[in-house]
Amino acid sequence: MAAEVLDGKITAAKLTEEVKKEVAEFRERFGIGPGLTVVIVGEDPASKVYVSRKHKACIDTGINSEVIRLPETTSQEELLATIDRLNGDQAVHGILVQLPLPKHIDAEKVLEHIRPDKDVDGFHPVNVGNLCVGRENLVPCTPYGIVKMLEMNEIAIEGKRAVIIGRSNIVGKPMSMLLLARNATVTVCHSRTKDLAAVCREGDILVAAIGKPQFVTKDMVKPGATVIDVGINRVGDRLVGDVNFADVAGTAGHITPVPGGVGPLTIAMLLHNTLKAAALQCK
Ligand code: NDP
Repeated sequence: MAAEVLDGKITAAKLTEEVKKEVAEFRERFGIGPGLTVVIVGEDPASKVYVSRKHKACIDTGINSEVIRLPETTSQEELLATIDRLNGDQAVHGILVQLPLPKHIDAEKVLEHIRPDKDVDGFHPVNVGNLCVGRENLVPCTPYGIVKMLEMNEIAIEGKRAVIIGRSNIVGKPMSMLLLARNATVTVCHSRTKDLAAVCREGDILVAAIGKPQFVTKDMVKPGATVIDVGINRVGDRLVGDVNFADVAGTAGHITPVPGGVGPLTIAMLLHNTLKAAALQCK
């Protein structure tokens, strides 16, 4: 039997509609709109596409959006000075520095420079720490969106075995914390995991965040499992995920497509986090 496809666009549209209503209420109450500033350094074509999507989503939702475009040659000091200015600007509630940054800039230093209550990506160590101790404040958008999608599609998490492939700070690790907080039993795999396929087959929920096209095949999937494909890989002129969709769809119970699965949720949660940051700063 073919897996049920979890449509990220539908879930994202519902989440965005909720944010839009709350943004209107926010404006009514405080007389200003929540504001997001995205900083992009350099000319990475994929980053440019992501930034313009984020900008459009903000405008459509009633969030004030500003994009600061800096040249590839920007020094770390100049970037930190830009963040200092935004940290002090009361009209800017959320700051997002688009990754990757040019090689001469230390991304960790930059992310740590953002005021934690304006860190809408949830990557600042203060927000990472909050997540680890069970305070879900500003949570990384991609894993947060995945949890929302599971919840909105009534896919049980509590008591389930969740297996995550990938341990990045952006996806794998925060995903593990969010699922653990919802009482899943969580295993995190990485490039040194032994018998990866056998470990993956234990997952009632399998999250693939690897960055390798069509890496997950049906021999790695428990029959009936929910398979979440985070990967975005360009192969020729196509975007493909980390899961071999055609192969796995006959084994999984639910599966997300690429594109149209996790990607739209990431943007919806950015809007959610911007509103939350604004609420934190204006209460
Ligand atoms: P990273 O490169 O930071 O992390 C990849 C992880 O996969 C690492 O932990 C790595 O292990 C692990 N890995 C690599 N090869 C293997 C292997 N052969 N077996 C098991 N584990 C392996 O990637 P990200 O987490 O940033 O992103 C993952 C994917 O998700 C990418 O395709 C990215 O484009 C996409 N993405 C999509 C988003 C969206 O909005 N949909 C948002 C963010 C990312 P180790 O730690 O040992 O090196």
